[in-house]
Amino acid sequence: MTTTRPVIELDRVTKSYPGGVQALRDASLRIWPDELTAIVGPSGSGKSTMLQLMGTLDRPTHGTVRILGHDVATLDDRQLSAVRAAWIGFVFQQFHLTAHLTAVQNVANGLFYHGIPRRTRLRRAAEALDRVGLGHRLSHRPHELSGGERQRVAIARALVARPAIVLADEPTGALDSRSGETVIALLHELHAEGTTITVITHDQGISRSFDRQVEILDGAIRGDSAAESAT
Ligand code: ADP
Ligand code: MG
Repeated sequence: MTTTRPVIELDRVTKSYPGGVQALRDASLRIWPDELTAIVGPSGSGKSTMLQLMGTLDRPTHGTVRILGHDVATLDDRQLSAVRAAWIGFVFQQFHLTAHLTAVQNVANGLFYHGIPRRTRLRRAAEALDRVGLGHRLSHRPHELSGGERQRVAIARALVARPAIVLADEPTGALDSRSGETVIALLHELHAEGTTITVITHDQGISRSFDRQVEILDGAIRGDSAAESAT
């Protein structure tokens, strides 16, 4: 038996916001290497809160978050930035690309904190864009790209540092249905090539196309297809 450790582990995590909203309640979840997971639930159910905690963008009120075995509570903000840069790639609904930079420059920025020379950053960025089918759009700025292409640039940026996991929050939420399908197909391809991916979605159709579904409602995990099929 090999002993793999979870990429991300939430252990009885609660998140309360000022004003008394408990956005996440007593949530426990392990994401394993090579999984393609959907976290699915209606608007306001706590999905983005969970992604922020999984991605160490925020800290829990109670409970423990571990990234590759490292307890987030033991790391200061600078160490957490390093953990994120090395291990986690993010994709957001609104792409979060820098408007005045070209596609290849946007992606190369994903390597900014890695101490890699500029030329190498640009080469690896071009390779990542090629991987998402945008090798012919290196010098386009975001406004010269379609929504689906912008999201593929964002996915290339998330992948360029070869993270342990990609976390995507409603990656098709700002796209028409055809572009959305292309983005989901790309995530499936990347997963088939060995990328660990967790996608947050309110879309049951997208969720069903993934290997594992974690259902969240009112801040609590209500179902987990992996747990149900566990032996
Ligand atoms: P989802 O992504 O599933 O739509 P969120 O995690 O964004 O849900 O929000 C869960 C709940 O927490 C909602 O009731 C929301 O209004 C509340 N919430 C989210 N962020 C904050 C915040 N920064 N401050 C206060 N309440 C928040
Ligand atoms: Mg959300």
